[in-house]
Amino acid sequence: MPNDDQFISLPTMANDTNRFQAIISHCKEYGFIFPSSEIYDGLSAVYDYGQYGSELKKNIKDHWWKSMTQFHENIVGIDAAIFMHPTTWKASGHVDSFSDPMIDNKDSKKRYRVDHLIEARIDELEKAGDAAAAGALQQAMDSLLAASDFVGLKKLIEDQKIKCGVSGTSNWTDIREFNLMFSTQLGSVTEEASEIYLRPETAQGIFVNFLNVQKTGRMKIPFGIAQIGKAFRNEIVARQFIFRMREFEQMEMQFFIRPGTEDQWYEYWKEARMKWHLGLGIPKEKYRFHPHVKLAHYAKAACDIEYEFPIGFKEVEGIHSRGDFDLRNHQEYSKKKMQYFDPEINQNYIPYVIETSIGLDRTCLMVISEAYTEEDLSTPEKQDSRVVLKFPTKLAPIKLAVLPLVKKDGLPEIARQIMDTCKSQFRCFYEEKDTIGKRYRRMDAIGTPFCVTVDQQTKEDQTVTIRYRDSMQQERISIAAIPGIVNQQIGS
Ligand code: ATP
Repeated sequence: MPNDDQFISLPTMANDTNRFQAIISHCKEYGFIFPSSEIYDGLSAVYDYGQYGSELKKNIKDHWWKSMTQFHENIVGIDAAIFMHPTTWKASGHVDSFSDPMIDNKDSKKRYRVDHLIEARIDELEKAGDAAAAGALQQAMDSLLAASDFVGLKKLIEDQKIKCGVSGTSNWTDIREFNLMFSTQLGSVTEEASEIYLRPETAQGIFVNFLNVQKTGRMKIPFGIAQIGKAFRNEIVARQFIFRMREFEQMEMQFFIRPGTEDQWYEYWKEARMKWHLGLGIPKEKYRFHPHVKLAHYAKAACDIEYEFPIGFKEVEGIHSRGDFDLRNHQEYSKKKMQYFDPEINQNYIPYVIETSIGLDRTCLMVISEAYTEEDLSTPEKQDSRVVLKFPTKLAPIKLAVLPLVKKDGLPEIARQIMDTCKSQFRCFYEEKDTIGKRYRRMDAIGTPFCVTVDQQTKEDQTVTIRYRDSMQQERISIAAIPGIVNQQIGS
């Protein structure tokens, strides 16, 4: 059997502190994620997905879409435009209040989000083992944010002697609000251009289409509308790779319900969404719910699902009980009725909404962070290690690699036949260059769960060697069995 003996030399193992950096480098080196327009030195907080990253992203998208729409008979999907009538954003409250409190360092001119600055101090205290001080600071920040008390927040920053990471000084400006929406002009300037916004969330495309979908789909409450699409936010502190981007994708679902049933549906969706996350094969101790302390003025209840990234527990998804805030405001601004007639109780009402909103890019980062594994394979005779992305098969960019052991003796032809049978069913990859050991390791690095190798014995008995990514075990199977093995794992 071919073995894993010829290895690609790998960098030394990453420790906890540089694990995140190692993941970013790996994503670039293996065609997952590149900085945008890199030949011009990139664009801050904007990224491009490469050949494997875009496959991974698409697989996550398809998985979410299917679990929302195909598995829920009462949820349908739409695809609304990024540009919307500007009044949408007045009605939604984004023009007036989609802002973050910011503070500038006068010496470095660097601008920070106030909550991020204080959270970094909380992290420092936690790392130093002072959990009590960290907890007290968290509480103080939460209550000042809840009260929008900017003077108190600035005092907190000064009392904690928080310094700018660039200038090293505590020479701070006052705290101000900064709107996060990007604006542009619709039409040419000569044709009475009007200012419009790049949508900062996909949800409003769902709200403005609520009646269109309800009527044309003859939807009965409770029902949901799902959407996947781009959103844009002029994040001031844009950092942490694809965790916080200026252009990103959201997967959102608005669930329309009868008023009075919101608490039970909120609990239902909290549970359903956590189940979805666990279905990605991620252990439950890597997740936690974080209830919002500062509720948006319209929200009845809200929480985040947080995942433990290499940079700590951070939000991946928000679940919000929004009442009738959005539909009521659209009714008021558009003067169009946003009501539903409920035949069961013979009443008209504006439905309440439970929203689930998950970032697609953050989910990609979560899945990559969870999959990224450095393994020490050293034996007394030889030092060795590998980097492997242990993706669940359904999310892996490539499911099967087909590798002729040598480039002659009719082996490539047999491998090509296997490709022809399998490539219509799932994403396959063909490669004949380099030693088999190097090819296996390249497939490990992009997370391909199965490699099959065609060798001389294949010509005699129509069998190949299948190698399993995680265990590196190899076994002999018949060519005919390949699609079944891969499909069974994709479905599980
Ligand atoms: P944060 O507090 O991290 O800024 P948020 O609470 O403003 O996030 P929501 O408005 O609830 O986020 O958006 C829903 C989801 O969209 C988030 O849970 C996150 O996964 C994703 N998201 C929001 N902003 C960004 C961003 N700048 N880059 C990537 N994903 C984002």
